[in-house]
Amino acid sequence: MRAVRLESVGSLTMRSVEKPVAGPGELLVRVVAAGICGSDRHMYKGEYPTAIPVTLGHEFCGIVEEIGDTVARFTGGELVTVDPNIACGTCRACTQARPNLCESLTAIGVTRDGGFAEYVAVPQAQAFVLPADLDPVHGAFSEPLACCIHAIDKARIRPGDSVAILGGGVIGLLMVQLARLAGAGEIILITRQQSRRQTALRLGATHAFDPASSDTIASVRDVTKGGTDVVIECAGVPDTLQTGLKMARRGGTFVLFGVTPAGVEVPVLPFDLLVNEVDIRPAYLNPFTHSRAAAMVANGVLELDALVTKTIGLEEVADVVGNAPLPGEIKVIIRP
Ligand SMILES: [Zn+2]
Ligand SMILES: [Zn+2]
Repeated sequence: MRAVRLESVGSLTMRSVEKPVAGPGELLVRVVAAGICGSDRHMYKGEYPTAIPVTLGHEFCGIVEEIGDTVARFTGGELVTVDPNIACGTCRACTQARPNLCESLTAIGVTRDGGFAEYVAVPQAQAFVLPADLDPVHGAFSEPLACCIHAIDKARIRPGDSVAILGGGVIGLLMVQLARLAGAGEIILITRQQSRRQTALRLGATHAFDPASSDTIASVRDVTKGGTDVVIECAGVPDTLQTGLKMARRGGTFVLFGVTPAGVEVPVLPFDLLVNEVDIRPAYLNPFTHSRAAAMVANGVLELDALVTKTIGLEEVADVVGNAPLPGEIKVIIRP
Protein backbone atom coordinates (compact mmCIF):
# COMPACT_ATOMS: atom_id res chain seq x y z
CA MET A 1 0.00 0.00 0.00
CA ARG A 2 1.02 3.65 -0.31
CA ALA A 3 2.05 5.66 2.76
CA VAL A 4 3.58 9.09 3.36
CA ARG A 5 6.65 8.51 5.53
CA LEU A 6 8.69 11.00 7.52
CA GLU A 7 12.10 9.38 6.95
CA SER A 8 14.11 12.08 8.73
CA VAL A 9 13.62 15.75 9.60
CA GLY A 10 12.90 17.55 6.32
CA SER A 11 12.42 14.33 4.35
CA LEU A 12 8.85 13.25 3.68
CA THR A 13 8.12 10.80 0.86
CA MET A 14 5.26 8.72 -0.43
CA ARG A 15 6.32 5.15 -0.97
CA SER A 16 5.09 1.62 -1.02
CA VAL A 17 5.09 -0.16 2.34
CA GLU A 18 3.73 -3.42 3.76
CA LYS A 19 -0.01 -3.23 4.44
CA PRO A 20 -0.46 -3.37 8.24
CA VAL A 21 -2.43 -6.12 9.95
CA ALA A 22 -4.83 -5.77 12.87
CA GLY A 23 -3.01 -7.18 15.90
CA PRO A 24 -4.82 -8.42 19.01
CA GLY A 25 -7.30 -5.74 20.15
CA GLU A 26 -6.69 -3.71 17.02
CA LEU A 27 -8.71 -2.61 14.01
CA LEU A 28 -7.43 -2.27 10.48
CA VAL A 29 -8.92 0.97 9.18
CA ARG A 30 -9.10 1.86 5.49
CA VAL A 31 -8.47 5.61 5.53
CA VAL A 32 -11.16 7.55 3.68
CA ALA A 33 -10.24 11.12 4.65
CA ALA A 34 -7.35 12.65 6.58
CA GLY A 35 -6.49 16.22 7.52
CA ILE A 36 -3.11 17.93 7.34
CA CYS A 37 -2.37 19.75 10.57
CA GLY A 38 0.10 22.44 11.63
CA SER A 39 1.67 19.80 13.87
CA ASP A 40 2.59 17.77 10.77
CA ARG A 41 4.61 20.76 9.56
CA HIS A 42 6.22 21.07 13.02
CA MET A 43 7.19 17.37 12.89
CA TYR A 44 8.54 17.75 9.37
CA LYS A 45 10.77 20.61 10.57
CA GLY A 46 11.89 18.77 13.71
CA GLU A 47 10.05 21.19 16.00
CA TYR A 48 7.90 18.51 17.61
CA PRO A 49 9.20 15.12 18.81
CA THR A 50 8.38 12.06 16.69
CA ALA A 51 9.65 8.49 16.36
CA ILE A 52 11.21 8.75 12.88
CA PRO A 53 10.77 6.91 10.55
CA VAL A 54 6.99 7.05 10.82
CA THR A 55 3.90 7.45 8.65
CA LEU A 56 2.34 10.81 9.55
CA GLY A 57 -1.38 11.50 9.88
CA HIS A 58 -3.17 11.89 13.23
CA GLU A 59 -6.46 13.35 11.96
CA PHE A 60 -8.37 10.77 9.98
CA CYS A 61 -11.55 8.88 9.46
CA GLY A 62 -12.06 5.54 7.79
CA ILE A 63 -13.83 2.24 7.54
CA VAL A 64 -13.05 -0.76 9.74
CA GLU A 65 -11.89 -3.39 7.31
CA GLU A 66 -10.52 -6.13 9.61
CA ILE A 67 -10.74 -6.79 13.31
CA GLY A 68 -7.99 -8.41 15.38
CA ASP A 69 -8.33 -11.10 18.03
CA THR A 70 -10.29 -10.14 21.17
CA VAL A 71 -11.98 -7.18 19.46
CA ALA A 72 -15.53 -7.11 20.79
CA ARG A 73 -17.01 -3.69 20.11
CA PHE A 74 -16.60 -3.78 16.31
CA THR A 75 -17.67 -6.22 13.65
CA GLY A 76 -16.19 -4.55 10.56
CA GLY A 77 -17.65 -2.03 8.13
CA GLU A 78 -18.15 0.76 10.67
CA LEU A 79 -17.15 4.34 9.80
CA VAL A 80 -14.83 5.44 12.61
CA THR A 81 -12.89 8.45 13.78
CA VAL A 82 -9.71 7.71 15.73
CA ASP A 83 -8.31 9.44 18.80
CA PRO A 84 -4.60 9.27 17.99
CA ASN A 85 -3.32 9.81 21.54
CA ILE A 86 -2.70 6.55 23.40
CA ALA A 87 -2.17 6.88 27.15
CA CYS A 88 -0.61 4.10 29.24
CA GLY A 89 -3.39 4.05 31.84
CA THR A 90 -1.06 3.32 34.75
CA CYS A 91 1.26 6.31 35.32
CA ARG A 92 0.58 9.05 37.88
CA ALA A 93 -1.07 11.36 35.32
CA CYS A 94 -3.23 8.57 33.89
CA THR A 95 -4.43 7.41 37.30
CA GLN A 96 -5.35 11.01 38.10
CA ALA A 97 -7.54 11.26 35.00
CA ARG A 98 -5.11 13.40 33.01
CA PRO A 99 -4.21 11.08 30.12
CA ASN A 100 -2.94 13.97 27.95
CA LEU A 101 -0.07 14.31 30.44
CA CYS A 102 0.74 10.58 30.37
CA GLU A 103 4.43 9.94 30.96
CA SER A 104 4.48 7.26 28.26
CA LEU A 105 2.09 8.83 25.76
CA THR A 106 2.30 7.44 22.25
CA ALA A 107 0.38 8.78 19.29
CA ILE A 108 -0.81 7.44 15.97
CA GLY A 109 0.80 9.51 13.22
CA VAL A 110 3.50 10.78 15.60
CA THR A 111 5.24 7.87 17.33
CA ARG A 112 3.49 5.03 15.47
CA ASP A 113 2.26 4.80 11.89
CA GLY A 114 -0.65 7.09 11.08
CA GLY A 115 -3.32 7.87 8.57
CA PHE A 116 -1.50 9.41 5.61
CA ALA A 117 -1.75 5.95 4.06
CA GLU A 118 -4.28 3.64 2.55
CA TYR A 119 -4.57 1.64 5.77
CA VAL A 120 -3.69 2.08 9.43
CA ALA A 121 -3.89 -0.32 12.40
CA VAL A 122 -5.31 1.24 15.58
CA PRO A 123 -6.16 -0.05 19.09
CA GLN A 124 -9.94 -0.53 19.32
CA ALA A 125 -10.19 1.76 22.38
CA GLN A 126 -9.05 4.68 20.20
CA ALA A 127 -11.89 4.29 17.66
CA PHE A 128 -15.30 5.97 17.84
CA VAL A 129 -18.16 5.02 15.54
CA LEU A 130 -19.71 7.70 13.32
CA PRO A 131 -23.00 7.48 11.42
CA ALA A 132 -22.47 5.40 8.27
CA ASP A 133 -23.86 8.16 6.04
CA LEU A 134 -21.69 10.93 7.48
CA ASP A 135 -19.35 12.77 5.11
CA PRO A 136 -15.97 11.24 6.09
CA VAL A 137 -14.32 14.62 5.51
CA HIS A 138 -16.33 15.89 8.49
CA GLY A 139 -15.22 12.85 10.45
CA ALA A 140 -11.59 13.82 9.86
CA PHE A 141 -12.24 17.04 11.82
CA SER A 142 -12.94 15.11 15.04
CA GLU A 143 -9.35 15.18 16.27
CA PRO A 144 -8.64 18.93 15.99
CA LEU A 145 -12.16 19.56 17.28
CA ALA A 146 -11.52 17.35 20.33
CA CYS A 147 -8.44 19.46 21.17
CA CYS A 148 -10.51 22.64 20.77
CA ILE A 149 -13.23 21.25 23.06
CA HIS A 150 -10.59 20.71 25.75
CA ALA A 151 -9.54 24.36 25.34
CA ILE A 152 -13.16 25.52 25.56
CA ASP A 153 -13.59 23.44 28.74
CA LYS A 154 -10.53 25.18 30.16
CA ALA A 155 -11.83 28.60 29.06
CA ARG A 156 -15.03 28.20 31.13
CA ILE A 157 -16.96 30.62 28.91
CA ARG A 158 -20.17 31.84 30.52
CA PRO A 159 -23.10 33.04 28.39
CA GLY A 160 -22.46 36.67 27.51
CA ASP A 161 -18.69 36.55 28.08
CA SER A 162 -16.39 38.27 25.63
CA VAL A 163 -13.89 36.00 23.90
CA ALA A 164 -10.85 36.98 21.84
CA ILE A 165 -9.34 34.32 19.58
CA LEU A 166 -5.86 34.87 18.16
CA GLY A 167 -5.11 32.95 14.98
CA GLY A 168 -7.51 32.37 12.11
CA GLY A 169 -6.51 28.94 10.89
CA VAL A 170 -8.72 25.89 11.23
CA ILE A 171 -8.30 25.92 15.02
CA GLY A 172 -9.26 29.58 15.36
CA LEU A 173 -12.28 29.07 13.12
CA LEU A 174 -13.41 26.02 15.13
CA MET A 175 -12.93 28.04 18.34
CA VAL A 176 -15.12 30.83 16.92
CA GLN A 177 -17.94 28.33 16.40
CA LEU A 178 -17.47 26.68 19.80
CA ALA A 179 -17.42 30.09 21.54
CA ARG A 180 -20.65 30.98 19.75
CA LEU A 181 -22.25 27.69 20.86
CA ALA A 182 -21.00 28.37 24.42
CA GLY A 183 -22.99 31.61 24.37
CA ALA A 184 -20.22 34.18 24.13
CA GLY A 185 -21.36 37.79 23.75
CA GLU A 186 -18.53 39.29 21.75
CA ILE A 187 -16.37 36.92 19.70
CA ILE A 188 -13.32 38.70 18.31
CA LEU A 189 -11.01 36.95 15.86
CA ILE A 190 -7.56 38.34 15.22
CA THR A 191 -5.76 37.20 12.09
CA ARG A 192 -3.77 38.74 9.28
CA GLN A 193 -5.58 37.17 6.34
CA GLN A 194 -8.64 38.99 5.11
CA SER A 195 -10.30 35.83 3.73
CA ARG A 196 -10.06 34.21 7.16
CA ARG A 197 -11.54 37.27 8.84
CA GLN A 198 -14.47 37.13 6.43
CA THR A 199 -14.96 33.41 7.09
CA ALA A 200 -14.86 34.05 10.84
CA LEU A 201 -17.56 36.70 10.57
CA ARG A 202 -19.72 34.26 8.58
CA LEU A 203 -19.18 31.55 11.22
CA GLY A 204 -20.25 33.68 14.17
CA ALA A 205 -17.46 36.11 15.08
CA THR A 206 -18.85 39.53 15.97
CA HIS A 207 -15.59 41.34 15.17
CA ALA A 208 -12.46 40.49 13.18
CA PHE A 209 -9.26 42.54 13.36
CA ASP A 210 -6.06 42.58 11.34
CA PRO A 211 -3.01 42.79 13.61
CA ALA A 212 -0.96 44.23 10.74
CA SER A 213 -3.13 47.29 10.24
CA SER A 214 -4.54 48.12 13.66
CA ASP A 215 -3.60 48.23 17.32
CA THR A 216 -5.48 45.08 18.21
CA ILE A 217 -5.05 45.51 21.96
CA ALA A 218 -6.70 48.93 21.78
CA SER A 219 -9.41 47.62 19.42
CA VAL A 220 -10.20 44.68 21.69
CA ARG A 221 -10.26 46.86 24.81
CA ASP A 222 -12.59 49.23 23.00
CA VAL A 223 -15.06 46.50 21.96
CA THR A 224 -14.98 44.81 25.37
CA LYS A 225 -14.80 47.99 27.45
CA GLY A 226 -11.51 47.22 29.10
CA GLY A 227 -10.43 43.70 28.17
CA THR A 228 -11.91 40.33 27.34
CA ASP A 229 -13.16 37.73 29.77
CA VAL A 230 -11.44 34.98 27.80
CA VAL A 231 -8.47 35.03 25.41
CA ILE A 232 -7.64 31.91 23.41
CA GLU A 233 -4.20 31.92 21.77
CA CYS A 234 -4.22 29.59 18.77
CA ALA A 235 -1.31 30.88 16.72
CA GLY A 236 1.69 29.65 18.68
CA VAL A 237 3.56 32.83 17.77
CA PRO A 238 5.54 34.72 20.48
CA ASP A 239 4.18 38.13 19.41
CA THR A 240 0.62 36.88 19.47
CA LEU A 241 1.10 35.36 22.87
CA GLN A 242 2.41 38.62 24.30
CA THR A 243 -0.40 40.58 22.69
CA GLY A 244 -3.03 38.12 23.89
CA LEU A 245 -1.90 38.35 27.50
CA LYS A 246 -2.50 42.11 27.32
CA MET A 247 -6.04 41.66 25.97
CA ALA A 248 -7.40 39.83 29.02
CA ARG A 249 -9.46 41.90 31.41
CA ARG A 250 -8.50 42.04 35.09
CA GLY A 251 -9.33 38.57 36.40
CA GLY A 252 -9.70 37.25 32.86
CA THR A 253 -8.66 33.86 31.54
CA PHE A 254 -5.91 33.25 28.98
CA VAL A 255 -5.95 29.83 27.32
CA LEU A 256 -2.60 28.78 25.89
CA PHE A 257 -3.37 26.50 22.95
CA GLY A 258 -1.08 27.32 20.00
CA VAL A 259 2.08 25.25 19.70
CA THR A 260 5.15 27.48 19.90
CA PRO A 261 8.29 25.64 18.78
CA ALA A 262 10.03 23.98 21.73
CA GLY A 263 12.71 26.18 23.31
CA VAL A 264 11.21 29.50 22.22
CA GLU A 265 11.11 32.06 25.04
CA VAL A 266 8.55 34.86 25.32
CA PRO A 267 9.02 37.93 27.55
CA VAL A 268 6.03 38.56 29.82
CA LEU A 269 5.23 41.16 32.46
CA PRO A 270 4.79 39.17 35.68
CA PHE A 271 3.77 42.27 37.65
CA ASP A 272 0.86 42.94 35.30
CA LEU A 273 -0.19 39.29 35.31
CA LEU A 274 -0.04 39.25 39.11
CA VAL A 275 -1.98 42.39 39.90
CA ASN A 276 -4.53 41.58 37.22
CA GLU A 277 -4.74 37.93 38.27
CA VAL A 278 -4.77 36.78 34.65
CA ASP A 279 -5.58 33.09 34.85
CA ILE A 280 -3.22 31.33 32.39
CA ARG A 281 -4.59 27.93 31.48
CA PRO A 282 -2.75 25.69 29.00
CA ALA A 283 -4.89 23.25 27.01
CA TYR A 284 -2.95 20.33 25.55
CA LEU A 285 -4.40 17.56 23.40
CA ASN A 286 -7.80 15.96 23.93
CA PRO A 287 -8.32 14.26 27.31
CA PHE A 288 -11.72 12.50 27.21
CA THR A 289 -13.05 14.90 24.56
CA HIS A 290 -12.87 12.78 21.40
CA SER A 291 -16.32 11.23 21.86
CA ARG A 292 -17.85 14.69 22.36
CA ALA A 293 -16.12 15.88 19.19
CA ALA A 294 -17.48 12.85 17.33
CA ALA A 295 -20.98 13.68 18.63
CA MET A 296 -20.75 17.28 17.38
CA VAL A 297 -19.50 16.13 13.99
CA ALA A 298 -22.13 13.38 13.74
CA ASN A 299 -24.93 15.82 14.49
CA GLY A 300 -23.76 18.51 12.10
CA VAL A 301 -23.71 21.33 14.64
CA LEU A 302 -20.59 22.89 13.13
CA GLU A 303 -19.92 24.42 9.72
CA LEU A 304 -16.98 22.36 8.46
CA ASP A 305 -17.23 22.57 4.67
CA ALA A 306 -16.20 26.24 4.84
CA LEU A 307 -12.90 25.15 6.40
CA VAL A 308 -11.84 22.79 3.62
CA THR A 309 -9.82 24.74 1.07
CA LYS A 310 -8.20 21.89 -0.86
CA THR A 311 -8.52 18.14 -1.37
CA ILE A 312 -5.47 16.16 -2.50
CA GLY A 313 -4.19 12.61 -2.98
CA LEU A 314 -1.34 10.96 -1.05
CA GLU A 315 1.14 11.90 -3.80
CA GLU A 316 0.71 15.62 -3.04
CA VAL A 317 1.10 15.42 0.75
CA ALA A 318 4.88 15.83 0.91
CA ASP A 319 4.64 19.02 -1.15
CA VAL A 320 1.91 20.54 1.05
CA VAL A 321 3.50 19.59 4.40
CA GLY A 322 6.97 20.60 3.20
CA ASN A 323 5.90 24.13 2.37
CA ALA A 324 4.32 26.94 4.37
CA PRO A 325 0.51 27.18 4.11
CA LEU A 326 -0.60 29.03 0.97
CA PRO A 327 -2.48 32.31 1.44
CA GLY A 328 -6.13 31.45 2.07
CA GLU A 329 -5.37 27.87 3.03
CA ILE A 330 -7.38 26.62 5.99
CA LYS A 331 -7.63 22.80 5.97
CA VAL A 332 -6.15 20.52 3.33
CA ILE A 333 -7.90 17.15 3.20
CA ILE A 334 -6.33 13.97 1.81
CA ARG A 335 -8.44 11.33 0.10
CA PRO A 336 -6.01 8.36 -0.17
ZN1 LIG B 1 -3.34 17.98 14.61
ZN1 LIG C 1 0.14 7.19 31.50
